[in-house]
Amino acid sequence: MVSLGPENVRIAVHAMDRANAIHQAGAILVEGGYIHPGYIYSMMKREQVSATYLGNGIAIPHGLSQDRQLIQHTGLSVLQVPHGVEWSPGEVVYLVVAIAARSDEHIGILSKLTDVLEDEATVMRLARTRRVEDIVAALDPSRPPDVTPMPMQTPAPAAIMGAGYRADVEVTGSTGLHARPASVFVGLAKEFRSDVRVYHDGKTANGKSMVSMLRLGVERGGIITITADGPDAAKAIETLQNAVAEGLGEEEEAQPTQPSEAVADQPASATPEVQEVREDAPGLIHGIAAAPGIGIAPIHQLRKDPQAVIERHAIDAKAERYDLNHAIDRAGAELEELHRTINQRAGEAEARIFQAHREFLEDPDLIEAARFRIDHNEESAAFAWREAVEERATELAALDDPLVAARAADLRDVGARVMRLLVRTSEGAMSLPDHEIILVAEDLNPSDTAALNPDLVKGICTALGGPNSHTAILARSLDIPAVVGCGRAVLELAPGMTAVLDGSRGTVLPDPDAGRLEQARQELGEAGFRRAEVEEAAYRPAITVDGHRVEVAATIGAVPEAGRTVEVGGEAVGLLRTEFLFQDRTDPPDEDEQFEAYRTMVEALGGLPLIVRTLDAGGDKPLPYISMAHEDNPFLGQRGIRLSFAMPDLFRSQLRAILRAASHGEIKIMFPMITSVPEFRRARRMVEEIRQELDAPEIEVGIMVEVPSSAVLADILAREVDFFSIGTNDLTQYTLAMDRGNPALANDADGLHPAVLRMVDQTVRAAHGEGKWVGVCGNLAADPAAAAILIGLDVDELSVGIPNIPGLKAQIRDMAYEDARDLARRALMCDAAAEVRALAAEVA
Ligand code: PEP
Ligand code: MG
Repeated sequence: MVSLGPENVRIAVHAMDRANAIHQAGAILVEGGYIHPGYIYSMMKREQVSATYLGNGIAIPHGLSQDRQLIQHTGLSVLQVPHGVEWSPGEVVYLVVAIAARSDEHIGILSKLTDVLEDEATVMRLARTRRVEDIVAALDPSRPPDVTPMPMQTPAPAAIMGAGYRADVEVTGSTGLHARPASVFVGLAKEFRSDVRVYHDGKTANGKSMVSMLRLGVERGGIITITADGPDAAKAIETLQNAVAEGLGEEEEAQPTQPSEAVADQPASATPEVQEVREDAPGLIHGIAAAPGIGIAPIHQLRKDPQAVIERHAIDAKAERYDLNHAIDRAGAELEELHRTINQRAGEAEARIFQAHREFLEDPDLIEAARFRIDHNEESAAFAWREAVEERATELAALDDPLVAARAADLRDVGARVMRLLVRTSEGAMSLPDHEIILVAEDLNPSDTAALNPDLVKGICTALGGPNSHTAILARSLDIPAVVGCGRAVLELAPGMTAVLDGSRGTVLPDPDAGRLEQARQELGEAGFRRAEVEEAAYRPAITVDGHRVEVAATIGAVPEAGRTVEVGGEAVGLLRTEFLFQDRTDPPDEDEQFEAYRTMVEALGGLPLIVRTLDAGGDKPLPYISMAHEDNPFLGQRGIRLSFAMPDLFRSQLRAILRAASHGEIKIMFPMITSVPEFRRARRMVEEIRQELDAPEIEVGIMVEVPSSAVLADILAREVDFFSIGTNDLTQYTLAMDRGNPALANDADGLHPAVLRMVDQTVRAAHGEGKWVGVCGNLAADPAAAAILIGLDVDELSVGIPNIPGLKAQIRDMAYEDARDLARRALMCDAAAEVRALAAEVA
């Protein structure tokens, strides 16, 4: 972050006019080696484009963006002009703050300035003081912020508005500008080169900084003013204004469920026992029902490993900066992976938590603050990072809005992730026993919750948190019963004592007497029985009531998931994402390592087919050890099969490993991102060459249909491939030109769009015409409304996440193929995804 030193402040200056004031302020920056003298001229030119009078006696001269190359270092200078200088007719300036900033480091000073701007008394004091340090204390952006609250609903300063475009817009999401919508906003703002700022209630935020946005504390219905200044300002304002007006990708969130409501939500048959337990059980703790189900196990109080002792000082700032950058990059890759895993397991809404974490991680203000500490305070990367995170987390935690304050925990979670990588210890990590437990904690951060093993953690009980907390959302997606907001008394419960946790009623009963324990065991047994019924039925084939069979397969991305596929009744692995073998490491896996993984998986499948997709890196899945040229649009760049062709050794070693494993079970190979027949032929030729070298068995070779060109050419491709598997995630993004990872488009990038369905239809008809089979392995297959339509379009196999398999099979067994065909026919004639969904809901 830029700082203001006393050497850059001149007090009691006389300035004849605006040009003279700019010259004097600019000369300080030239003397300090911050700018080339030509930048002063640029400052003058800027005044012609738009005056930099900020209001209340302050002006902020700065050059034009196109002259940024004249800046040597980012810096500030301040001229105090006690008698004032006329800036524009009728506007007198007493403090001239000249800014030379290469990127958006000047945001800090602007936010400082807006802090003092409305306080006329402070401005006048600064205009007259004889003490340079008063000015430094008030305006140095690297100093902690002044916490004096600003007056309510202060309008955004006029000159800033004059410098670019602005829009006032109401924040409509049910919980205001909390982490997820803020992350959507920040993500969009970062797509523009313009400086984006947001004003609310007298506070200013850098629209590209998550922490800064959260500090605004905007509640539902709050009006924000967005300004943009720069080459693409008009577009930025239009995009951001629309995004805010449309709710920033937020759906209505459920209101907190009180314990009594949670009870009312239960099936009627369960109610009498509920009342009995609630009223009678001594010691029964009431919390908030967060994730349904019953858990019985000994209590385990979560104690994190103590914080590592960190050296404060370091001598080599360059090395520390490198370490920090590296740790941030690796933390980013970890969050990406978590996002992907939770997305597959539970859906995009749940996974967005980790997207918000990425915004924290990439927050320019936060990173700049840590770098500043490294450069100017000679601090180690770990110390600087910890302090920078803690400063911001403390500020967030102190805000009135509980939702925003709760984001302090997320920021600390992200901070701890980077710390672990920086100090290479388990600092702040959870260590849990290897037996069943009810986990009791003050609160759990999302990273810890996502890492819990549902086989051992039978319940989660937290002192803090609400039903919409990340802990609750993730616990539901992991199928771990949870009760949150129980109060601090739970932290005193004796470790090892048995407890009954009821995540549907929101209660925890420590040390139950024999009768209550028995009652809970019965309930657990009944729930298990019901689940077992569904699971047992999952082993039966998925045949519709009118006799049409659909294969239900698993989409997996880890070795143990092959065994789990069989346990839940999966009939094949329809997609093995092999990227898991290649990510989060510094070198690629060698052939033997890959062979072992594929062999273990195909053996665990006990004769069921395993479709191995070759490496689909690039796009949103970069690999650290592959140096790739910068791509403006990585999703349209070197990804999937293109990257494999570009790295033939890596590709060959993967094909060798797959073909060797093919002697141990039924394996099929599938190529990602095929766009043309020659591409497929080239890949298949390589498979055949290696197969002959190894004398491996002949295997089926197919392609993902995930690019519109392959769907359009499906009739020609179908003559050559053994099968198609439609990747609706990419097919949707490329057909609709909507980035699959852009949360602002999440509701529109719907695979039920008739255009996507028509591509599916075309692909299936082409394949069947050549006697080939077609699967769908994108997330769409797991959406019950979509599954019926896909079946109606005659897709032969649906590949879904493991938890979805029993439910999907049950759904298929309950439906009639003829109805599905009718539904599909009508869906193809709809004009929008919403219409298709309405249709599916109508017939459900
Ligand atoms: C798809 O694009 O639908 C697909 C299954 O592949 P991935 O999500 O791994 O890109
Ligand atoms: Mg894909």
